[in-house]
Amino acid sequence: MRPGAGGWYQRFVPVLCNVEGKLVPPEQALVPVLDRGFLYGDSVYEVVRTYGGRPFELERHLLRMERTADRIGLTLPPRSRIEGELQRTLDASGNPESYARIVVTRGEGQFGLAPQLATGLFRMVIIVRPLVLPSEEQYARGIQMAIAKTRRNSPLALDPALKTGNYLNNILALREAVGAGADDAILLDLSGRVTEGTTSNVFFVQRGVVVTPPLALGMLEGITRGVVIEVAREEGLLVREEPHGPEALAAADEVFVSSTLREVMPVTSLVFLESDERTRPVGDGKPGPIAQRLRKAFAKYVAEKHLAR
Ligand code: PLP
Repeated sequence: MRPGAGGWYQRFVPVLCNVEGKLVPPEQALVPVLDRGFLYGDSVYEVVRTYGGRPFELERHLLRMERTADRIGLTLPPRSRIEGELQRTLDASGNPESYARIVVTRGEGQFGLAPQLATGLFRMVIIVRPLVLPSEEQYARGIQMAIAKTRRNSPLALDPALKTGNYLNNILALREAVGAGADDAILLDLSGRVTEGTTSNVFFVQRGVVVTPPLALGMLEGITRGVVIEVAREEGLLVREEPHGPEALAAADEVFVSSTLREVMPVTSLVFLESDERTRPVGDGKPGPIAQRLRKAFAKYVAEKHLAR
């Protein structure tokens, strides 16, 4: 398996868990099997990372979590408690930089789908581990994305804008991609338009214009996507939110994805799993100048808006 495809190299890093306020190693971090997060994916979550030891854009992450919780009628702990427990876990980990996953489930109760069967209000778990980032070689090589046969959930079914624990749609697409030897997958909507990656948002560049699918197609409003659009406009680039089919990616000068852990990662080849399964290079098959420029602009944003404060 390619490094990065399944994250095999991440198995050996020390993990610290906060289960309902108790700090424990993963082997002691247990939740009851009747927890609705475990049984049904009835939960919300966020992944944040630190820069300079402090969580980046925590306000935006918590707002997104609150929006998701609100849409599925899940009660969250008070914001001050989420922030406090996150900080406590980060401090206890002693990591110079951390990855943190905040998970809140609807708690446990009798078997049955009915949400009112949950007896408590919620269960919060925070998982912290040292930050493991893609290597510079990976940025220099770019990644290969497969256009999956599995389509993104319709916003009228399970809205992809919700960051819930229910990730099977994305897992199925990733299985296809890994099976085809690609690093990750891009999902189309039911009408065949590009939506997002399994854990990233998608951008392409055509004649100098940066294009990304509009949120209304059904996708997560990535925090990194928001920052990338902001910094791209500050760089004087034209950014358009427009729906396109996957052929636009194949014809683009550049394709890249954005996410908390990858920031701005060039996509240098595509595999179309629904049609001929041929591998097509993006542009000349090398990371393009705009993706590289936006990665630098993103770093500048982090330095000025986050590290300098
Ligand atoms: N889309 C999906 C489905 C995701 O799961 C993620 C992140 O996990 C993203 C996009 C990127 O979001 P962010 O930039 O907030 O990490």
